Amino acid sequence: MDSASRQAENAAPSTAVIFNIMRFSTQDGPGIRTTVFFKGCPLSCWWCHNPESQRLQPELLYLEERCRHCGDCVAACPQHAIEQVNGTVRTSALCRRCGQCTEVCQAEARQIAGRRMTVGDVIAEIERDLVFFEESGGGVTLSGGEPLAQPRFVSALLGACRDRGIGTVLETCGYAPSGVFLDVALAAGLVLYDLKLMDPVKHKEYTGVSNRRILANLEELVARGRAVTVRIPVMPGINDTLDEIGQFARHLAALPVSRVELLPYHHIGAGKYKRLGLTYRLGDAPQPTAADLARFSDALTRAGLNVRVRL
Ligand code: SF4
Ligand code: SF4
Repeated sequence: MDSASRQAENAAPSTAVIFNIMRFSTQDGPGIRTTVFFKGCPLSCWWCHNPESQRLQPELLYLEERCRHCGDCVAACPQHAIEQVNGTVRTSALCRRCGQCTEVCQAEARQIAGRRMTVGDVIAEIERDLVFFEESGGGVTLSGGEPLAQPRFVSALLGACRDRGIGTVLETCGYAPSGVFLDVALAAGLVLYDLKLMDPVKHKEYTGVSNRRILANLEELVARGRAVTVRIPVMPGINDTLDEIGQFARHLAALPVSRVELLPYHHIGAGKYKRLGLTYRLGDAPQPTAADLARFSDALTRAGLNVRVRL
């Protein structure tokens, strides 16, 4: 380990909250990848398909369809936070997310999303896949949530990967102070940069924050010659209007981005909202058709961009 990595690791918080480590991914960068999903995100996009990633702290999920109404969780909860009324199991705000109810639930209807891990814990998981990285040109992708919500830990993890010769990809929404953003992003081999909307008013409405900092950070990053793939989730009626597509095309064509990937919106995360006691604000919004995607892709291609639709 070089001295810079050792310093980063020493200065980093000892743990981060991670809600999943997915092996054998082929969607998050080149080759076969291990993707580490960090909890916590400064945005709250209406279409987010990982709502369990948004809050920084671990949280409890209840999968009603699995529940056998046995009452074991009610008896196990030290906070008396669970009650069963007329066959319905409810968890109150007294819950401290200790996880004891998940241990007694035979039906696996109760789960904790997010656990604290050290850099060493994460590296131990990653190293199980070294042989696949070597054979495929893959590596590790840091995703979320938003990795930049836990930036010092992420820097230490990137350094630990670099010391082991493991290639890294950072997937980010880019919403962080410029200095923090560049420190982390410049340490990654490739950045997958998520852009949602160009119109600042709509961006604030659908994500909860302005896109000014996001666009500025993207410009800073590409100005430093860093390889960047921009990813756009395609949401019919929200960011695929003629005006929005035109703004994406003009803005991105003026930057040296390596590639643009279009990610079709899908409903698969909708059920998770209920498990968390949250409302899914997009309801039954339509998914983009092949024609919708072709229209978006063609417009960006005509602007000179290298475009790929991820299905
Ligand atoms: S322990 Fe699990 S299956 Fe039993 S009532 Fe609680 S959530 Fe339902
Ligand atoms: S996570 Fe802990 S506090 Fe929350 S409901 Fe389960 S046992 Fe009770």
